Amino acid sequence: MLVDAILTDAPKGGVIFSKIEVREEDFPVTLKPIYTGICGTDRGIVAGSLSFAYNPHGYNRLVLGHESLCRVVSAEPNNYGIKAGDLVIPMVRRPGTCLNCLAGRSDNCSDGNKHEAGITGMHGFMRSQFGDYPEYLIKVPEMAAAKIAVLTEPAKNVEKAMEVVDIISRRSIFTDNQGSFEGKAALVIGTGSEGFLYAMKCRDYGFRTIVTNRHSIDETKVGILSRIGAEFYDYTHDTGSEKQGFDLVIDTSGDPATVIRFLRKINNNGILLLFGTNGKAPGALMNGDDIDLIVERNITVAGSVDGSRIHYERGLQDLIKWNAIYGGAAERLITGYASPGSTGIFTAKPTGEIKTVISWE
Ligand code: NAP
Repeated sequence: MLVDAILTDAPKGGVIFSKIEVREEDFPVTLKPIYTGICGTDRGIVAGSLSFAYNPHGYNRLVLGHESLCRVVSAEPNNYGIKAGDLVIPMVRRPGTCLNCLAGRSDNCSDGNKHEAGITGMHGFMRSQFGDYPEYLIKVPEMAAAKIAVLTEPAKNVEKAMEVVDIISRRSIFTDNQGSFEGKAALVIGTGSEGFLYAMKCRDYGFRTIVTNRHSIDETKVGILSRIGAEFYDYTHDTGSEKQGFDLVIDTSGDPATVIRFLRKINNNGILLLFGTNGKAPGALMNGDDIDLIVERNITVAGSVDGSRIHYERGLQDLIKWNAIYGGAAERLITGYASPGSTGIFTAKPTGEIKTVISWE
């Protein structure tokens, strides 16, 4: 099938909007994208800084795109209730043969033999048309505004990661003396779309939620944080004495120096969740005191990647809820729309961007 697509050459990078002949199997469902979101991972691949990205077997190009909201063009009868006209989110990961993949948890793939659309060995969703199987499609109720649904893929990462936090936190009493999270503090590093989604989820728990970056943020971003009841601070103005005592630190920057800086401010029984990836970030030294601190304070350092069907479903539900209870806060995360041909958007982040979405209709 000859399609218009946004292409890179992984892991070298680069980006063009061009035609590509994709040799597809006979998929039972045909999809057209409505929106595809651009995220830090897409920009990392285009910049050539994500060494884990690779082209599909037999291709010297990779179609980008793993965040998508699609319309079903046609569907063979299936047990998933997917039919022509439906709005759906295609899942990113496709299972390999390890036990976690076979159990429907390719997000916890044990041997790395899964594939990720638009990232590792499988063409992504930034193309005019493609096929898929109904079992990898998440149905979107029409009542959930299409604009919010395109954020389901990034939201599912947050749902899975917070499940990891839940599992770790069971090793001790993680709540405050009142049995709630009101007296507990969560710090989110980074103010991209994932950072905002983490902030909303931390507010759901009841954490005092603080979001940080190495610079100030504009009024739109401050406004969203204020709607959800989170605080912002620019840590470059941190004197080293005021902002500390975090029970949960979530990093979306992938910057080692920043991660170590805040690791040193984690409370006893605290959790450091690593989420951001940036292979080109400069290294930073962890010293003996840092190891002593991790040990003595019972700190758990965990990584989390991707999510499974249940996390997509929870993510979509939470987006609908957050949009309603926080006065359109989820919708406000979409700060710009672009056309498929505006590939400059992959190399230069627009000022004030939280999430830029490519419109295909
Ligand atoms: P993003 O929009 O690029 O967000 C990254 C944020 O980190 C930006 O706000 C950036 O600030 C900030 N940042 C960078 N360096 C920093 C530093 N030294 N100190 C404080 N903040 C810093 O990306 P995203 O789409 O939200 O995704 C976040 C990260 O998660 C990316 O690295 C992405 O590759 C990764 N990711 C991981 C998974 C997973 O499953 N683990 C899934 C999706 C994405 P500026 O605004 O100044 O750039």
